[in-house]
Amino acid sequence: MAVPVIPSDITPRQVANKSRKQALAEALRMTLDVQSAAIRHNTQTFNRNRYTAVARITDYDAMKDRARGIKEKAIANLPALLQQLEASVVSNGGRFFLAKTAADANRYILDVLQQHQVKLVVKGKSITSEEIRLNHTLEAAGITVAESDLAEFILQVADEQPSHNVAPALHYSRERITALFKRKFDTDLPLDTGEELTRFAREILRQKFIAADAGITGANLIAADSGSLMLVESEGNIRMTTTLPPVHIAIAGIEKVVPSRSDFQSFIELLPASATGQQLTSYVSILRPPLPALPFVAPGKTAQPREFHLVLIDNGRSTMREDPVLNEALYCIRCSACLNVCANFETVGGHAFGGETYSGGIGGSWEAGTGKLMNARFSELCTGCSRCVPNCPVRIDIPWLNQNLRQRMNAAEGSSAVKSLFGNLTGSAPEDKVASLPKQFFANYHTLGKWGTKFASAANGSSRLPMARQVMENVFGVDQRRELPAFPAKTWEQMFLEEQQRGVKVATIEPGIVMLADTFTNYGSPGRGMAAVRVLRAIGIDVVLSPSIPDGRAAMSQGMIETARTQARAMANMLRPYLDSGRKIVVVEPSVLAMLHFDVRHLLDDEAAVAALAGNSFEPLQALWDIACETGLDIAKLFPAAKSRYGIKLFYHAHCQQRTCNAGSQTVDLLRAAGFDVVTSSVECCGMAGSFGYKHDYYELSMAVGADLFAQVHQAEQEGGPRVLVASGISCHEQLMAGMGRTVVHPAEVLESTL
Ligand code: SF4
Ligand code: SF4
Repeated sequence: MAVPVIPSDITPRQVANKSRKQALAEALRMTLDVQSAAIRHNTQTFNRNRYTAVARITDYDAMKDRARGIKEKAIANLPALLQQLEASVVSNGGRFFLAKTAADANRYILDVLQQHQVKLVVKGKSITSEEIRLNHTLEAAGITVAESDLAEFILQVADEQPSHNVAPALHYSRERITALFKRKFDTDLPLDTGEELTRFAREILRQKFIAADAGITGANLIAADSGSLMLVESEGNIRMTTTLPPVHIAIAGIEKVVPSRSDFQSFIELLPASATGQQLTSYVSILRPPLPALPFVAPGKTAQPREFHLVLIDNGRSTMREDPVLNEALYCIRCSACLNVCANFETVGGHAFGGETYSGGIGGSWEAGTGKLMNARFSELCTGCSRCVPNCPVRIDIPWLNQNLRQRMNAAEGSSAVKSLFGNLTGSAPEDKVASLPKQFFANYHTLGKWGTKFASAANGSSRLPMARQVMENVFGVDQRRELPAFPAKTWEQMFLEEQQRGVKVATIEPGIVMLADTFTNYGSPGRGMAAVRVLRAIGIDVVLSPSIPDGRAAMSQGMIETARTQARAMANMLRPYLDSGRKIVVVEPSVLAMLHFDVRHLLDDEAAVAALAGNSFEPLQALWDIACETGLDIAKLFPAAKSRYGIKLFYHAHCQQRTCNAGSQTVDLLRAAGFDVVTSSVECCGMAGSFGYKHDYYELSMAVGADLFAQVHQAEQEGGPRVLVASGISCHEQLMAGMGRTVVHPAEVLESTL
C-alpha cells in the first residue's frame, strides 16, 4: 500500500499567511487526509494511559494544587527569582544570559558557538528553540545542528515542523517513518519495526554525539536557589547532550524558573503521568552545571574544561506576566495533556490546531504572547468543551484563555456599519458589535429563538428552502449540510405554565428546585425540559421554572465576553431570590450548567454569588440520583425499565461539559438502578460542541470528530444488538442524529416513559 506523504508545498507556516478561512481549510484538509489515523491513535493512547496513571496518584488533586501554587508564586516573584538564579548560576561557575528577544538569544548562542569554533552541535528537544528559530540562525552561520531526540530527528530528516509538544512526530505512523528513512537515506536495511528504526537512528546519532563540539538542551524547570536544572526524557539523548560535548547551553523561557529544587518533586510525578501516562520517565536528570570534565576524550578531540551557559528567554513573557488573562498560560509545564484529551486535536493534530510554534488549546495564548495576536487564530478550533481543564496538572482554564483571544481577535478585525446594525438588532453589548455576523448570530441565539418560536411554522418552513440555507451559509456561516434545531410550537415556559394550570401533585421533598429555563431547552427542545420536570416531580420534588433569559453561554463561546458578562449578571440576579428561598438550581442543558459551575467566576464580581451558583446547581438526573441516595428511594419501583417505551437497551453519551462538572456518572447509575442495560461512550466530545459543528468552516472537522462516537455506537450494537441512543446535550443530540440518522432522546425522556 502506498504510504501517504504530506504535500511538501503545504506547511503550517505557509498557510498561516493566508486568510483565516483558507488557512484552516488547507490545514484541515492536509491533516484529515494524510495524518489523522496516526494522530488519533497516538493521542488517544496517551490520553487513556494518562487516566490510568493519574488514578494511581493517591493525592492527585492535592498535588495539582501544590503544582499550581508553586507556579503562581514563581510567576508573581519572577523578577526576584531571576536575580537569585543569576547569582546561583555564576557561583556554580556557569554563565547567565537573559535574552529580551528571540534575536538577542540567537545572537548570544551563536557568539558562544563561534568563540569555540563549533561546527556541529547536538540538540535535545526544545520547543523554546523552535520559538526563537535557533536552528535557522545556526545553520545560516554554517553550524550543523543534529537533533538528538528521535522524533525531532525524524522531523529534521523530513524537513517538517513538530505537531505535538511531547511527541513532535506524533503525526507519523511507523510505516511513514520507514518510507521516509528509506527514501532519504537510500538504504536497503530492514526498517520495518520500531526497534529497527530506532537502531538505525541511534547509529547515526551516536556518531554525532561523539563528534559534537557543543550540546544544546532545554530545561523542564530551573531552581533559582541552586541553579539546578530538571530535565525529563525517555531516550537518554539529553543525558548524552549534557555530558559528552565540552560546552552545554541550556535555553528556556523565564517561566521555567521556580524558587527551589524541592519544588521539582510534584512536577517529577505530574509531568510524566500527564504527558504519556508513565509513572516516571526513563531518565530524570537534576543537574547543577557546569558538570565535571569527562575522564576521557573522544578520538580526535582534546580535553577541555566544561563550560555552561544558561540562556533564559523573555520574548514577550514579561508582557504576558502583566496581562491579567495570558498570565495564566505561564504556569504551563508543556505536558500536552490538554492536547491529548482534546477531541479536535486528536483528529487533526498540531499542524492544523497550531500556529508558528505552539499547538493545541494552550498554544493560542503562547502564540499571542510570544508572537502576534493573529498567529493565534487557530485557537478558533477550541470549542470550549472544557475537557482539558480538569486534566491540566496546573489547572489552567484553557477555554477561558481562548475566549479572551477570540474577543481580542474580534476587536482586531474591526467594526463595520453592518456588524453594528446586526448587533443592535440581536442584543450584543457595545464592545462586542465588532464581532463578525456569524459570531453575533450564534451568540444571540436567544433573540433568534424568541422570534423563531413566535412564528415557528413559517420560520421552520423557510429555513429548509435551498435559497434560505444558501443565505444562512453565506451570511451567518451556517453550513448547508446542517439543520438548525426546529423551533417548537410552544416554548418550555408555555408548556410548563399549561401543565401547572392543569394541576400538579403535592410535593413531599424539601427543598424544592428551580429549573433554569435555558435558551437551548426553552427554544430548542422543550419536550426534554418537561420530561425533566415530570421525573423530578414524580419523586415528590416541588419544581418551579425560571423565566427564560439569555445566560451568556452562547456569547462566551463566540468571544463576546461583555455580552456574556451583562447576561450572566442578569441571570445571577434573576436566580438569587430562588437561592435565597432555599431552592437548588437544576439545568437541563449541560453547557449552561458549566456556565454556572465555572464560567461565572470570570464574569461576576460578587464572589458569594459565584460560590452560590456553582455550589447549588445540578444536572436533572444528577439531582434526582443524589436525592434518591439521600432519601433511600427505590428507583426500580419509581422508574421500572420494563415499562419504558424505548426498551431497556440504551447507548448513553454524556456531554463533555457535563463530565467536567462531575455530573455525568449519576445518569448512568440512575438508569442502571432503574433496570436499563446501559453502554456508555468514552469519547471526550461528540464534535458538535454548541455552535461549532454548525459552522461552515468546521463542518468536516466536526463530522470527523463525531466519527469516533458513531463507531462506538456501531460496536456496541454489533456486540449486543440495537440500542436506543440517549444523550444529555442538545448539540450531542443533533450530532448523533446527523451522523447516524436516528432518533436520540434525553435520559429524562427515557425515565418519563416509565411513569
Ligand atoms: S476546551 Fe476542549 S476544544 Fe478547547 S482546548 Fe480544551 S479540550 Fe480542546
Ligand atoms: S496547559 Fe496544562 S495540560 Fe496543557 S500542556 Fe500546559 S500544563 Fe499541560
